[in-house]
Amino acid sequence: MGCYDEIILYCPKCDEMYIAQSKGGECLLNRYTTSDAPIEVLGDINRHAPFTCIKCKTKFKAVVQAHVFMEIVEQDEDNS
Ligand SMILES: [Zn+2]
Repeated sequence: MGCYDEIILYCPKCDEMYIAQSKGGECLLNRYTTSDAPIEVLGDINRHAPFTCIKCKTKFKAVVQAHVFMEIVEQDEDNS
């Protein structure tokens, strides 16, 4: 019995819900959406891709784009 997390996806054609399984991350049998899933869970989102929509039979996969940006770290003045 494998463990996994679930991610709720929606068919890009008809918007039917699809539950994808991911073995990335801690596998706590949590159910996430694509907006609250940890990045390691999203990293394995296409484990069973292509997904086939239950309703319209369209095959689809998830495209994950990480948003990386630089942030200045504030630190104390120290010119010694
Ligand atoms: Zn569909």
